[in-house]
Amino acid sequence: MKDNEKLPTLFILNKPFKKIKMKNLILITLMTIALHSASMAQTSIIAHRGSWKQSNNPQNSIASFKEAISQKVYGSEFDVHLTKDNILVLNHDHDFNGLDVEKSTYQELLAKKLPNGESIPTAEEFIKEGLKQKHTKMVFELKTSRISKERTLEAVKQSIELVKKLKAEKMVEYIAFDWDACLKFRELDKKAKVFYLTGDKTPAEIKTAKLTGPDYHFTIFKKNPTWIKECKDLKLKTNVWTVNSEEDMKFFIHEKVDYITTDETELLTKVLNK
Ligand code: MG
Repeated sequence: MKDNEKLPTLFILNKPFKKIKMKNLILITLMTIALHSASMAQTSIIAHRGSWKQSNNPQNSIASFKEAISQKVYGSEFDVHLTKDNILVLNHDHDFNGLDVEKSTYQELLAKKLPNGESIPTAEEFIKEGLKQKHTKMVFELKTSRISKERTLEAVKQSIELVKKLKAEKMVEYIAFDWDACLKFRELDKKAKVFYLTGDKTPAEIKTAKLTGPDYHFTIFKKNPTWIKECKDLKLKTNVWTVNSEEDMKFFIHEKVDYITTDETELLTKVLNK
């Protein structure tokens, strides 16, 4: 049938639509599908420090990141510190195998290895790995400096410069416990997604600061049961960590949180596909 041929009489809501053309029918069908998928918008998965638990990879390693990518999750979170000689490196704690990351040079940190033999990854090599694909975002947690506020803000500046240099802006989202760090990320990149982690700001305060949304521990959202809905009304995104039990996963999926950060990516995938 050609595009402009008339279809036989159709009955929609008991009314005949005699002059529906094929292209209009296609348009109506597409709009219906779009409306349906918008109403079904599903919670997305963020792997916490990569996907490491079932696969036995070290946290914050290239291996755990590759595993998260292979599972095609929405994002993979990682923790970043600034070394003494201004290299952004991945590690959760301030200590890396007995070395204080902030007080060590990158060269000194290379003397120690992750359990799988990897060297401590730099943020640069990590982001370059992430840019080899397009479906899994990099959720960049900037750790708060124990040396000074200035060091934290310097790390923000260097993080933004690195991401811009690698042209990775669309693949990286920022999270931080330090409120001033979040404000600095926003100041230096007006379009970046920036989430605040500590849990002591209301949705309205996050909106006023022009951040993307809260990324809070699950107990904070449970203590403040109206916040997820308030965020939706304010057009803020919501992320919750670290949700590892099936019961809590189901609770937050029901609450329609945008992202769940988990150590159990395989389980959350199963729960979401049920
Ligand atoms: Mg983290």
